Amino acid sequence: MIGAGAAGLYALHRVRGLGLSAKVFEKGDGVGGTWYWNRYPGARCDVESWDYCYTFSEELEREWEWTERFPAQPELERYFNYVADRFDLRRDIEFNTRIDQARYDDEQNRWLISMSSGETVSTRFLISAAGCLSEVNTPHFEGVDTFAGQQIHTARWPKGGLDVTGMRVGVIGTGSTGTQVIPQLAKQADHMFVFQRTAQFAIPARNRPLDDDTLEELKHNYHERWELKRSSSTGMGRRPTEASSALEVDEATRNRAFEDSWARGGPGFARAFSDVMTNPESNQIASEFVREKIREKVDDPDVADTLVGIDHPLGARRLIVEIDYFETYNRPNVTLVDAAANPIEEITPQGLRTTEGSYDLDLIVYATGFDGMTGALLAMDIQGVGGRALRDKWADGAGAYLGLVASGFPNLFMITGPGSPAVYSNVIFSIEQHVEWITDCLAHMLENGLDRIDSDPEAEAEWTRGVHDIANASIIGKTDSWWTGSNIEGKSKGVTFYLGGTNIYREICEEIAANNYKGFIFQPG
Ligand code: NAP
Repeated sequence: MIGAGAAGLYALHRVRGLGLSAKVFEKGDGVGGTWYWNRYPGARCDVESWDYCYTFSEELEREWEWTERFPAQPELERYFNYVADRFDLRRDIEFNTRIDQARYDDEQNRWLISMSSGETVSTRFLISAAGCLSEVNTPHFEGVDTFAGQQIHTARWPKGGLDVTGMRVGVIGTGSTGTQVIPQLAKQADHMFVFQRTAQFAIPARNRPLDDDTLEELKHNYHERWELKRSSSTGMGRRPTEASSALEVDEATRNRAFEDSWARGGPGFARAFSDVMTNPESNQIASEFVREKIREKVDDPDVADTLVGIDHPLGARRLIVEIDYFETYNRPNVTLVDAAANPIEEITPQGLRTTEGSYDLDLIVYATGFDGMTGALLAMDIQGVGGRALRDKWADGAGAYLGLVASGFPNLFMITGPGSPAVYSNVIFSIEQHVEWITDCLAHMLENGLDRIDSDPEAEAEWTRGVHDIANASIIGKTDSWWTGSNIEGKSKGVTFYLGGTNIYREICEEIAANNYKGFIFQPG
């Protein structure tokens, strides 16, 4: 298995249960994946703690007590460490080990793996748990090597922290990460310059500590929440809203609903009405509501204009959940730079230059995101049947049958691979579903003396077409963002995750397995 994040840990636990020997290779020196690497100040999950956790063990869920509605990185890292110890997983994890190459040997039907340590191993099955947001994106600015100060990507924040007291800090990027790190660093920095290229919608988190009554209720409702997660289209344990169209109600009712949704906070804001994501007119009304709310928070009307100059519909990019973000621009030591009107031209020895001026800096923080969905897989040299590189197969767009197996790459399973709901869901719940499907499939192979699984190229092509058709019909497919791969230069554009709903996806996966794994090709040993 590749990676000891949420996916790798659970995969190891389940694979062991099949009686197979297993090993996880992990680049870092600890478990937790995303929550190991992203330790920048303010790093916090924007899915509620009671949803963002494993469900496979009722005992685990009863033992672990979350302290906040939206858990922060240290708590999440503790949780994954607890899981690793609770299920005795560490003894089969090799830390500080990066996989550089994985090559399929047709004759032996084995994967030959080469590691950064120089070690090589051979395995019958390879499971990628490399994650959808683990390959960092650092834009290639001119002069980047000339900078005399310090530069850091948010996903590579040092373990001991970084004291920015008295520093002139430049932050590039205002996505989910930028909006979290900016308010925290602004409290310490002498001055902060925020370089915003695309203004974005952000909803207040309304984070809160969890009191004893809430914790008790969560434990009591464990089974009901699990059922809700399974039946929900995003894997969240909440009841479906009975909302109507935003256009069906009068203005006062509509405003009340948006106010209520705003007051609840969190990523579910758009669920105030059923058609915010599908009807441009409803979306426009919701967007204006949020713009107005942002304006109210920001003292300087020019700064507010730059923050609400949003060029896409609400929800077309991943909705940001923020804490004190917009208020940060009321601080005298924070300057917002419109990097759309005045793009960054180069990094200089002293700092950074845009088309409009120069900024002297001691520290540049890249909150510039990730090469999503495929970055981590393609960072490795993966070669399938006949030595064909995965990079070549996916050069014009990534896809795998059900997001699980890419045709021509037998016995390589992908957890949350391209073609699965992955990042458009409560990812940890999707991970569990994938791991369970994969390990059930492995059990089927072992029981039936099957040695090799591949996907049928036609089944894969049809599945991938379906994924694209759904995405192209939605506002998500029509908007540039990391969701469409347009943040990475040279990457083929298009949504590679399944937007049809995790509940529907699960049913399809189950049906296919029940139908003798239709679309997969097995070979006996
Ligand atoms: P992101 O959404 O891709 O945002 C990257 C930011 O960097 C954008 O503002 C982007 O501007 C900017 N940028 C990139 N290249 C640039 C350049 N050359 N010049 C100027 N600006 C540039 O990345 P992210 O904020 O790390 O978030 C990625 C995803 O990670 C999220 O959508 C979410 O799924 C996950 N995440 C979740 C949480 C959470 O749970 N709360 C926190 C952090 C991240 P443009 O928009 O103009 O490209």
